[in-house]
Amino acid sequence: MKVPLLDLQAQLEYLEDDILAAVTRVVKSTRYIQGPEVEEFEKEIAEYCGAAYGVGVTSGTDALLISLMSLGIGPGDKVLTTPYSFFATMGVILRVGAIPVFADIDPISFNIDPAKMEEVLAADTSREIKAIIPVHLYGQCADMSAIMEMAARYGLPVIEDAAQAIGAEYPLPAAGAAKGTYKRAGSMGLAGCFSFFPSKNLGGIGDAGMVVTQDKDFAERLVLMRNHGAHPKYYHKLVGGNFRLDPIQAAALRVKLPYLERWHAGRCANARRYDSLFLQSGLVDAQQIVVPKVVYSQTPGADGRIPNVHIYNQYILRVARRNELREWLNKNDIGCEVYYPVPLHKQECLGDIGAGVQCPEAEKAADTTIALPIYPELTEAMQEYVVEKIVQFYS
Ligand SMILES: *Cc1c(COP(=O)(O)O)cnc(C)c1O
Repeated sequence: MKVPLLDLQAQLEYLEDDILAAVTRVVKSTRYIQGPEVEEFEKEIAEYCGAAYGVGVTSGTDALLISLMSLGIGPGDKVLTTPYSFFATMGVILRVGAIPVFADIDPISFNIDPAKMEEVLAADTSREIKAIIPVHLYGQCADMSAIMEMAARYGLPVIEDAAQAIGAEYPLPAAGAAKGTYKRAGSMGLAGCFSFFPSKNLGGIGDAGMVVTQDKDFAERLVLMRNHGAHPKYYHKLVGGNFRLDPIQAAALRVKLPYLERWHAGRCANARRYDSLFLQSGLVDAQQIVVPKVVYSQTPGADGRIPNVHIYNQYILRVARRNELREWLNKNDIGCEVYYPVPLHKQECLGDIGAGVQCPEAEKAADTTIALPIYPELTEAMQEYVVEKIVQFYS
């Protein structure tokens, strides 16, 4: 049996006609820049996330980049982030001329550890840190209550890298919040940055991204920034760039958005099935593998709905003999991936900035984790085969 890490063809089976119709609609409209598809999609995503504004951009990377640019962050500034993420999280900080500083991750959630952040912020006595970028890695939110409280105390804006977490819900333990109250990823910080790269839970037919925000002034600045800082046309208030969302992507994504909750549910059901198959296998008890942990309570809300506190953009195991397991799975036609083999503070392009950074949990995660296929169309038989092959590897 062949089990790919992701199978976009399985999705296309039921989406193809609608996507082609949407693309045709854009082609026939001759509205090739901005236009109604982009505007409608911005509204739909803002509403879905519980944010006031959505600003469509070229990619998730550019969503992060124009957020930093709109805050005026540049040379001489530092930005606090996680050492364990896709490169873009750190790349945009370097790209604006600022310097990334790191707080190590929590080994259970793989997300930035608020206690470590506190240490880094307290040590920044000359106040060079100008913003915080937490990442909601693999589809589960970073500990936003602690992060927002800390950010308020230090007077820092928070840019959520929610590229892997669209629709992920975060429980509000804040005083006064009703039990079972949740916020969606991207709606809590000043900016929430999304990617619609094809492998994300909501993926386009190419590159696309969006920033959501509750702040009207910030939204207006983002709109300027994505279009060369121009308002009106040819009068440039700021130096921005061309970061506009392609209407063909917006139209295709609008076809997919109504499926998103169903896809989250499919991924969650697959995660529960892996969890129980791995538990039955004895590998968990034998400490050969650790299954991913849902770190937040899933108390149903007033409507009785169980919140998506984890949307499983990736299903990540922590395993013994990771590199050998990876080869074994590849040999058996099972797609898998290592996200990410080199933590950010160890990346070559950082040069001296990374020297002396102590993030042992990120390094351990980079050495011991592996992602298994989790896409919604994955079948029960495929999952059983994956687990059977992993059991074989350890026996
Ligand atoms: C995918 C991703 C990005 C970048 O998004 P692109 O659309 O590929 O530019 C940024 N951060 C994280 C955590 C991601 O997973």
